Amino acid sequence: MVINRKEKSASRDFGNLVHHLPRAVFHPRSPQDIASLVKTSYESPAPFTISVKGQGHSTRGQAMARGGVVVDMRALREENNSNKKKNIRVIWREEGYYGDVGGEALWADVLREAAEMGVAPASWTDYLYLTVGGTLSNGGISGQSFKYGPQISIVHEMDVITGKGELVTCSSHTNSELFHAVLGGLGQFGIITRARIALHPAPKMVKWVRLLYNDFSAFTKDQERLISINGRKHNNNDNNDDDVALDYVEGMLLMHQGPINNWRSSFFPLADHPRIISLVTQHSILYCLELAKYYDEKSENNVDKEMQGLLEGLSYMPGFYYEKKVSYVEFLNRVRSGELKLQSQRQWDVPHPWLNLFIPKSQIMDFDSGVFKNIIFKRNITTGPVLIYPMNRSK
Ligand SMILES: Cc1cc2nc3c(=O)[nH]c(=O)nc-3n(C[C@H](O)[C@H](O)[C@H](O)COP(=O)(O)OP(=O)(O)OC[C@H]3O[C@@H](n4cnc5c(N)ncnc54)[C@H](O)[C@@H]3O)c2cc1C
Repeated sequence: MVINRKEKSASRDFGNLVHHLPRAVFHPRSPQDIASLVKTSYESPAPFTISVKGQGHSTRGQAMARGGVVVDMRALREENNSNKKKNIRVIWREEGYYGDVGGEALWADVLREAAEMGVAPASWTDYLYLTVGGTLSNGGISGQSFKYGPQISIVHEMDVITGKGELVTCSSHTNSELFHAVLGGLGQFGIITRARIALHPAPKMVKWVRLLYNDFSAFTKDQERLISINGRKHNNNDNNDDDVALDYVEGMLLMHQGPINNWRSSFFPLADHPRIISLVTQHSILYCLELAKYYDEKSENNVDKEMQGLLEGLSYMPGFYYEKKVSYVEFLNRVRSGELKLQSQRQWDVPHPWLNLFIPKSQIMDFDSGVFKNIIFKRNITTGPVLIYPMNRSK
């Protein structure tokens, strides 16, 4: 058998740990093409495995099909590009704005086109060069999830190709079982070809803050406190603009991982690197709380005061407060420049072992001592980011 370049690329993913060769790679030009392929397999006396590949940013071969057919969604993007078709179609209804996006679209393109029209989805992933179908099959989590829920919670409707090769529109009212199975369904219940997502007026700017801690208990308490003020309003009125909460809360470990501005974004001023490094040397592990508040011309005058109010009483190390003001698009696309740097250094295509865990509040201290201190620190595991997203279970 001759293996061509496309089949080889369908046997790799971001994890670069698992490699399964498909028998063929399918390049659809329309959702109907995919439906025909699935139908052919379903009606065949010898059905074959079909897997959909978005950007292939999985870490354990989830988008591969050993001996089967990989549907490469990039082909749909290329088809749309050549027809100059937009990645998002914005719709206005009485209840608000929606956007229809293709399952093959990259979130980075959705952001760019939506922001040009003054709207944006509320929930994101940290990294945007992932497909809509890929993250909706997983969950789609970032620092906004405590407030708006993961990306699967902002979806109103989808077009899905079922295992029988039928194109079905589903929502929480129509074909609801399919809708709920496909969202977060790891690509096992259907192929998403269109998602209708909620949109909001896009903020213009972001006040972005990082605070350093040497005490995990103080760090995690502050994270929990900040996400608990979610939804509270000034003057108890319902106007969304008056929401006093932050728009984004995350956190990360800082250890001796080479440059203090890691690949995820350059942030700390160069002049402060020596004192941060000496703090890491002194404490071995630091915890960095990362926050953001969105604003625009209307709220610009209040944002500093509001941020100050939110940070009052927090227990970060005095003097280790850093802030930046950047555009909304720059903030959301913050991981891209680090990716391009790693790619240029040929460090992007390396193996990426990766683990995501939900940890209940009651056990987060045990996790710090058992994993961060006793495994990561003691064994000096200093490569790769360790991120800590505080979540509200209700979301
Ligand atoms: C650098 C990096 C940063 C990341 N950051 C985050 C983050 O901040 N938050 C977060 O939640 N995740 C994050 N992820 C994980 C990412 O969301 C998932 O790996 C996601 O599946 C990747 O999307 P993809 O387009 O590459 O999907 P793929 O890896 O191609 O596919 C993933 C799964 O979805 C299925 N699938 C793909 N497209 C469709 C479709 N149209 N319909 C049905 N099933 C489909 C595939 O068959 C497979 O099972 C990150 C990944 C990387 C590499």
